[in-house]
Amino acid sequence: MQYLDEKQLLCDLCCQFYNKGWVSGTGGGITLKVAPNLALIAPSGVQKEQIKPEELFLFDLKQSQIIDEPKNLKISACTNIFINIYQNRPSVAAIIHSHSINAVMLTKINSAKTVSFEKYEMLKGLSGGKYSEIHTLPILDNVEYECDLAEAVGQAVLDFPKAFAVLVRDHGVYIWGDSAAQAKVHAECYDYLFEAQVREKSLQALGLMK
Ligand code: ZN
Repeated sequence: MQYLDEKQLLCDLCCQFYNKGWVSGTGGGITLKVAPNLALIAPSGVQKEQIKPEELFLFDLKQSQIIDEPKNLKISACTNIFINIYQNRPSVAAIIHSHSINAVMLTKINSAKTVSFEKYEMLKGLSGGKYSEIHTLPILDNVEYECDLAEAVGQAVLDFPKAFAVLVRDHGVYIWGDSAAQAKVHAECYDYLFEAQVREKSLQALGLMK
């Protein structure tokens, strides 16, 4: 099978992300570039922790078409969003779409169009991240059909050149990296930062923190 190692890696990552609660209930999505214009994309509406290597789609990003299509499966509803992120940030090699409860709760308690993080050691886990710098992410409003987010996510990627993620209110987050390993590290760091800020706001509401 072509790209078997990369396909196995994607399946392994799906299992790990399922165990973190990021892709439960068939939610979320994942993609990995295997060549400059070729990407593996997970199927839609399936249990992510049970995906097998032969169930991944191979997609030509230049021609914008499926090259290898598994039988009886539909390509991810996130496909156009993945394409726009790849197009607008050419260094990106892997993207994770998570329905993490931390990402969702963060957008529910923050009505602004952005959210900023500062004074966390974990910021250093982001590529080029510094403890002493404020890191800002965009928050987009959710829509009924995920594919309708594609244009707004693509624009946010351009508008926030230092960000490695776009949050979607009440929905989740798209997180990327220049390799599968970097995307995984970014996803872990962001999820930590999201949870930390939700806890911070909760303590502030109780008057236990300034
Ligand atoms: Zn989603």
